[in-house]
Amino acid sequence: STGPVDQWTKTTCVYCGVGCQMEVGSHDNKVVAIRPTDSPVNHGHLCVKGRYAYDFTHAPDRITHPMLRRGSDWHAVSWEEALSFTASRLQELRNKYEADSLGVLSSARATNEENYLAQKFARVVLGTNNVDCCARVCHQPSAKALKTMLGTGAATNSFSDIEHTSLFMLCGCNPTENHPIVGARIKQAVRAGAGLIVIDPRRTELAACADIHLALRPGTNVLLFNAMAATLLEEGLQDDDYIAMRVDGLAGFSSFITAYAPEQVASQCGVTSGDIRRAARMYALAKPAMCFHGLGMTEHLQGTQGVMSLINLALLTGNLGKRGSGINPLRGQNNVQGSAQMGCEPASLTGAQNLADAKVRASFEQAWGTNLPTSAGLDLPAMLAAASSGKFKAMWVMGYDIAMSMPNASQTLAALAQLELVIVQDLFLNETAKAVGHVFFPAASVFEKDGSFMNADRRVQRVRQVVNSPGEAKPDWQIITELARHMGHEQGFKFDAPQAIWNEIRSVWPAGAGLSYQRLQNESLQWPCPATLDDNHPGTAILHQQGFGAGPKASLACIDYQPTAEVCDDDYPLLLTTGRELYHFNAGTMTYRSPNAVLKPTDTLDISPADARLLGLAQGQSARISSRYGTAVLPVNITDKMQVGQLFCSFHRADLNVNALTSPYCDNLVHAPEYKVTAVKVKGL
Ligand code: SF4
Repeated sequence: STGPVDQWTKTTCVYCGVGCQMEVGSHDNKVVAIRPTDSPVNHGHLCVKGRYAYDFTHAPDRITHPMLRRGSDWHAVSWEEALSFTASRLQELRNKYEADSLGVLSSARATNEENYLAQKFARVVLGTNNVDCCARVCHQPSAKALKTMLGTGAATNSFSDIEHTSLFMLCGCNPTENHPIVGARIKQAVRAGAGLIVIDPRRTELAACADIHLALRPGTNVLLFNAMAATLLEEGLQDDDYIAMRVDGLAGFSSFITAYAPEQVASQCGVTSGDIRRAARMYALAKPAMCFHGLGMTEHLQGTQGVMSLINLALLTGNLGKRGSGINPLRGQNNVQGSAQMGCEPASLTGAQNLADAKVRASFEQAWGTNLPTSAGLDLPAMLAAASSGKFKAMWVMGYDIAMSMPNASQTLAALAQLELVIVQDLFLNETAKAVGHVFFPAASVFEKDGSFMNADRRVQRVRQVVNSPGEAKPDWQIITELARHMGHEQGFKFDAPQAIWNEIRSVWPAGAGLSYQRLQNESLQWPCPATLDDNHPGTAILHQQGFGAGPKASLACIDYQPTAEVCDDDYPLLLTTGRELYHFNAGTMTYRSPNAVLKPTDTLDISPADARLLGLAQGQSARISSRYGTAVLPVNITDKMQVGQLFCSFHRADLNVNALTSPYCDNLVHAPEYKVTAVKVKGL
């Protein structure tokens, strides 16, 4: 605490997808303290981000007035001028080009209600399905894989299952740093006797206490999971009863998978065939076994297919539809599940309902009183590509610093520079606004608005206003409704409070219809939670207890391994992966304006002692990292967590611009960037 507290307000953490519940203490319209509350998720604990990183709210560089850029300078203007200018520019561009030359990008910084309005604005006001969100760069591959194979694009189980499993298999995730409260719960469960397999190139804190640590070569997930599946079937470890009732396609899969015997693929994966077999046996024999995965799974050329090959293992061993089992993506951001679920997705409407389904479209057309554009829109990488080729002209970006976050920064900036209108809505003048913004809308922070977030285990929880916004900053939902009104769409955007927006969401999303604000007042609920006559559906803690999507059975997927084109060679001999770390969050916008900046003042280049010796690098020395796409300079951190030949760095500091290095390759199905594999060279300075 930094002073006396007048009032405590219960709300939800703004950072990771765990969704911890907290009370925020305020005094004199300032956030002055945060303390944990008890909830099914955080059991009275908070991590160093949730507990201490709130000073950004009152940072002196908060933008408190709308601004327009004239020449190279930004000028504060009234809301009326900013909204009128933006509305007429959007209308002009739509008339000059077409509706599909415009797009909206929302984010996990926005509530469910705001994300819903953002996609409704794109579809109804602009007339395009060009709407996306930051799930594109993280777990869209998970959502696609889970929806394709199991029928629902979300975690199958709950954090409450952590204390009810026999074994954890952690795949490409480091919850100790990125989902700390879940990481601590997993560690406690392991101490109490649960088994632990960690699949990660780095020796993370949990890898160090695992029964088996498979330090695979980045980019070989499909090979590894196929080899585990081959082991299961060769050694007869599959769950025949479960397969008979719940799984299709075993015969074809069995003959397909023989090509992936561990002895044939282990060297490519960088692990031993013996360890692959041991891991497969351990996963199959522990009942139940629970998988968590992170961006080490998804941010690859075969991100979606990697998750699908992991789902094969759960199907073969009967680890779905039961407590303590499942496939559980650890969502990186507080509301990233919600932003896509609300419809900020170019091929899906609210509730992940298929835009291409005429019946679904008709029901939204009736609800919204207008015809909807029929063809799937552009996702973010496709918007940038279309901007480069002159076909995409305007973007409204809410709470998302794409110039800093997208890979291959020079290419991203070149694409953004082609746009005729870039509207940035944020707390601060972020890198996107500085480089290419034309309009800046000052947004309210998480402590300055009401609404709801959806965490990684499908739990909807309330966000509550603690203090008033500084100056003229407004919640995203208000800005969207006002711009809609300026574009002639008062009807359909007439909401006086987030609760009214939420009630409209419930009317178009059957799986969320039972989640009234009244019920969410004192509890959190996991969807599916349909409406019932007595209004007391308990929500759904475990998916797929009865079936998968349309039927009782799910099909195994035969997925061939496809190596990435981003390879090391004599010029670029080292393999870099990027990711996050404990004290900071994504673009650093919030945590670097908090005491966490003192605890961890910089991104570092993590390198093994052997490589540091070879390159003559000392701890703390500056090193220039060069890839085929750009360069960055970071201080060296020598650590035995790293394997020889591999490097890791976080990407939280704008001035260090780590995404200058990352490659343009992306997931072959849903375009999540391949942040986890970049060939580089390093030179000490
Ligand atoms: Fe916030 Fe995640 Fe930390 Fe919980 S674990 S306090 S949700 S950052």
